[in-house]
Amino acid sequence: MNWFNSFLRRARARLDRWLHPPYRTLMAQEALPKKLRRKTIYIVEEDGFEEQAAMLCPCGCRRVLHMNLLPDERPCWRLTRHEDGTASLHPSVWRKKDCGSHFWFRRGRVEWCRETDR
Ligand SMILES: [Zn+2]
Repeated sequence: MNWFNSFLRRARARLDRWLHPPYRTLMAQEALPKKLRRKTIYIVEEDGFEEQAAMLCPCGCRRVLHMNLLPDERPCWRLTRHEDGTASLHPSVWRKKDCGSHFWFRRGRVEWCRETDR
């Protein structure tokens, strides 16, 4: 019954992807659009440099999170783009005021961190 198990596993992965599609990765030249779409990470490029990444906070508070990508400014994130079109950020994103969202963004997916110190 091995083939059946692997069939099930593949079907479940496909269903999961369909129910929870990853974030789209959109490039923005020099400036962000006025209104950001949900489930989308924007990469702002200026003069060929990736300057910042931005997304709507995944908790639903509608605030825009900005992640600096320039290595000579702090704090700074490293953005990785994958072959399937998704992106990852390193380190985790932690909004210490307001909603307090703390999550990892990996391959277009939000992985929430447990709140151990709040
Ligand atoms: Zn939030």
